[in-house]
Amino acid sequence: MESDYRQRGSKAAAFTDEQLQSAVDEALELGRQAASKGTVATYIPELGKARPEAVGLYIVTDDGRKCKAGDTGIHFTMQSVSKVISLAMALEVRGADEVFRHVGMEPSGEAFNSIVELDFQRNMPYNPMINSGAITVESLIIDYKPFDDMLDFARKICMDPEITLNRQVYLSEMATCDRNRAIAYLLKSKGVITTNVDHSIELYTKMCSINVTAHSLANLGLLLANGGIDPLTKERLIKPETAKIIKTIMLTCGMYDGSGQYAVEVGIPTKSGVGGGLLAVAGTDMGIGSYGPALDEKGNSYAGKVMLKYLVDKLKLHIFD
Ligand code: GLU
Repeated sequence: MESDYRQRGSKAAAFTDEQLQSAVDEALELGRQAASKGTVATYIPELGKARPEAVGLYIVTDDGRKCKAGDTGIHFTMQSVSKVISLAMALEVRGADEVFRHVGMEPSGEAFNSIVELDFQRNMPYNPMINSGAITVESLIIDYKPFDDMLDFARKICMDPEITLNRQVYLSEMATCDRNRAIAYLLKSKGVITTNVDHSIELYTKMCSINVTAHSLANLGLLLANGGIDPLTKERLIKPETAKIIKTIMLTCGMYDGSGQYAVEVGIPTKSGVGGGLLAVAGTDMGIGSYGPALDEKGNSYAGKVMLKYLVDKLKLHIFD
């Protein structure tokens, strides 16, 4: 049964190395053109130092193939992509029932740092992929997993031992994150979080400041595609249920208030971050990571969206294709 399922979800196996590489090269070309339309985030001052024209794309497959193009050696901070890692840890250590007692699983239709709907419409965050939801998730793991454990977990599930904390970005965001603090205090006032606000904000901001490459994100995409098992070592790193929940929430909520349009036009589980990264999952056998710090008006990588759309069309990756 399981092997039937995996075969049905297989996407990469139908393509030769050359076909995959030329799709990646062509996507990169379009990504480079698109980058000039976006702007780099500056509300966290350190992020404003990124080169807006930088673009990189990386694909990994479960049979060990790697196709890359462009600026794949650049390290950048995960920002909201780290919400996937925090949610994974929360699901593993606290279980889905407990996690979803504190945070919902509905798209918000609001900006990632919105506070209004939290106060007026609901007494808990819409989902774990927006700031209020992720700060809540951090509060659920903080007594179980200090940041060093989270960093080890990130290294493990991204299969990248070189992942580190970017201290400059961390300090830059800590000096400017009044809005996230406001969200955290509101959550505490409503009893959604019960832990120390400063500690939750510190953990949240450190997670956002984890430095990765497009390759690290592609590896995480492949782990999720493969149901939580490292396809090369065959080691199970997260539970199948965790991988399933995360992919579903990435699909419905991973691109902020652009998630619906992205699901129609691209249609694979993807999570973006204002550092310019995209983490995407294709079928059961492919992970995709991209970098492009020039963002659209919703905070998603301009080049990343264009490259993912091209790959999905060219390789027929949309989940309903
Ligand atoms: N650290 C960023 C913030 O809290 C993450 C935002 C994002 O990537 O969406 O504003």
